[in-house]
Amino acid sequence: MKAWTIERPAPVNDRPLRSREITLPSPGEDELLLKVSACGICRTDLHVVEGDLPVHRSPLIPGHQIVGRVTAIGAGADGFAIGDRVGVAWLNRTCGVCEFCVNDRENLCEQATFTGWTVDGGFAESAIAPAAFSYRLPDNFDDIQAAPLLCAGIIGYRCLRLTGLSVSDWKGARLGIYGFGAAGHVCIQLARARGADVYVCTREREHHQALARELGATWVGDATDQPPVKLHAAIIFAPAGDLVPAALAAIRKGGTVVLGGIHMSPIPSFDYSLIYGERMVRSVANNTRADGGEFLAEAASVPVRTHTQVFSFDQANDALIALKSDAIRGAGVLLMD
Ligand SMILES: [Zn+2]
Ligand SMILES: [Zn+2]
Repeated sequence: MKAWTIERPAPVNDRPLRSREITLPSPGEDELLLKVSACGICRTDLHVVEGDLPVHRSPLIPGHQIVGRVTAIGAGADGFAIGDRVGVAWLNRTCGVCEFCVNDRENLCEQATFTGWTVDGGFAESAIAPAAFSYRLPDNFDDIQAAPLLCAGIIGYRCLRLTGLSVSDWKGARLGIYGFGAAGHVCIQLARARGADVYVCTREREHHQALARELGATWVGDATDQPPVKLHAAIIFAPAGDLVPAALAAIRKGGTVVLGGIHMSPIPSFDYSLIYGERMVRSVANNTRADGGEFLAEAASVPVRTHTQVFSFDQANDALIALKSDAIRGAGVLLMD
């Protein structure tokens, strides 16, 4: 099969992904083999390819928002039939027995594997995934629309949960979103459907600020602009640590700033008064399968509409360059031939 691989991390402008012909993998006991039709492009792919995250495998096939159809099934893999449409996300597999796994926090599992980072992902014609960690996708999303839901969407959903706002709190809540790429543009749709007013801070005008307005943001400003009112909570999707003090300054007492990225530049020191008043800062790490299932159901009922920019399979390097330079409106998706 054809696959894009990274051998040694390098800046994406050096076009470090290499196209190769490799042996078609066969599914293990509890796994599915998928013919990939689309794979979303995520900022985490940039962090993997450029070496912001440690290397676990070389060569590696990146990509962790896979939409495909089942072409082979391991002897012990339950729940899917040949031809079924399946989604594969970042959380690839967990141990099932550690303290985190048995307490509904499998996202923190010490032995977890991750699609497109510690195991091969979906920038390829075919991919392998454990059946128990694969999702059925709602019919109202086609393959291209569904791909960005599988990381950008699920992570945004978990960020909304970790703001600490309960179902009844959302109506009239004021939510800040910092950085408005793939995750932000899905997250705003959920938040608005729940009844929140959304304030978007993002540095990029042509694509990101315009899309935020189009999707109903109450107010849109530059990255570190202060929104005109105090916010109940804020989510930072941009990997920029200097946004943390800015977001803390924007929330009211008792509010939470949720950090949605897997990697962030150092957070500058800040005055205690910014976090005093029982303000909280917390990160989001990965997702549980429950997050994925709940999010997909909510996304289908809103319904969320993903804005995508499609790249052909041979444009994988170009897609990462576009992502890095803020040139993608909504979410980038690699489309297989
Ligand atoms: Zn575990
Ligand atoms: Zn991702």
